[in-house]
Amino acid sequence: MTTTNLTLEEIYNLALKTLKFNGCDELNAEAVADTVTNAERDGSVSHGLFRIPGYIASLKSKKVKGNARPTNKFLTQNAIRVDGDYGFAPTAIKVGLPVLIETTEKHGVGVLTIANTHHFAALWHETESLAEKNLIGIACTAYKPSVAPAGAKKPLFGTNPISFAWPRKNNSPVVYDMATSTMAMGEVQVAARDGHKVPYGTGLNKDGKKTDNPADIANGGVLLTFGDYKGSAIAMMIELLAAGLVGDLFSFEAAKEDNNDGGPARGGEFIMALSPNLIAGENWNEHSEKFFQEMKSLEGVRLPGERRHKNRLNTGSRSINKELVDKIISLSE
Ligand code: NDP
Repeated sequence: MTTTNLTLEEIYNLALKTLKFNGCDELNAEAVADTVTNAERDGSVSHGLFRIPGYIASLKSKKVKGNARPTNKFLTQNAIRVDGDYGFAPTAIKVGLPVLIETTEKHGVGVLTIANTHHFAALWHETESLAEKNLIGIACTAYKPSVAPAGAKKPLFGTNPISFAWPRKNNSPVVYDMATSTMAMGEVQVAARDGHKVPYGTGLNKDGKKTDNPADIANGGVLLTFGDYKGSAIAMMIELLAAGLVGDLFSFEAAKEDNNDGGPARGGEFIMALSPNLIAGENWNEHSEKFFQEMKSLEGVRLPGERRHKNRLNTGSRSINKELVDKIISLSE
């Protein structure tokens, strides 16, 4: 793979320019360009510039509004609904998160339901932003079906990611952010292209049999959830929170509505915040630090989020696939 080096500023400017050229106004272009740049900064490359062609396809097909103006509405004293106005999720998150923070700092618990948006990003942006304000963050979203529930041979769940962030007073938050499928479909396709096997049970072939052949999963087969029926239960919970509770589309409904332009389908996101200051009392940080010390004293353990936070310390340029950069440049001219 040929690569080219771009500074974080160049990544941001390229994303911003391309989004604006294709119909995003300043507010929406900045929100998405920030999300994309932060992903490249942290080494979450599958949610960085890699996503720009999909974002642009959705602007071109008019599936997503580039001038969305999300609005907040209080449902109860601590449940807020953001109507995303059919724009990209980063804009809705930018509008809703400050209100969620303020509400949770006051009441100890806050819920943000985000509806009518198109989510194509990693979820750690939102949970980590809450943890940076000394709040615990939980977020999840559903996507179009590619994963079979335990026992089934056909897809019903999306790869349905969930993220959790725990604040630390003098340290980066502990953050996990993971799909509930064994693997992303994109990774399976790459393995098929490169002729590599995937772990046995990553998915089923078209006859419903477990396989380690990525081509059989990608062509008419289906992915499975991690951890068999246990991961399946979590993927189901995510459908219920991000669609049932939010009042937006389940994965199977999103697939029926979507125009398959290569960009993100419409859907909802569920975000919850908790204030340890109000709920756990004064000593919560020292107490949980003891737990992290115990955990890290075990050989081989690292805390989730550490890889990204280490990458973040590098302020230098990032090595990006040249073909991708050329493609994005062609979309901005
Ligand atoms: P990974 O399997 O790469 O990582 C999952 C989590 O586990 C990360 O928080 C990671 O932390 C942590 N982790 C990895 N290895 C270790 C280890 N050895 N010890 C401790 N922790 C570890 O992520 P996925 O491939 O499942 O998901 C990738 C991204 O895709 C996520 O950001 C998710 O939000 C996104 N996604 C978005 C979708 C959408 O519709 N918007 C759909 C599906 C996925 P660290 O980051 O520090 O490595």
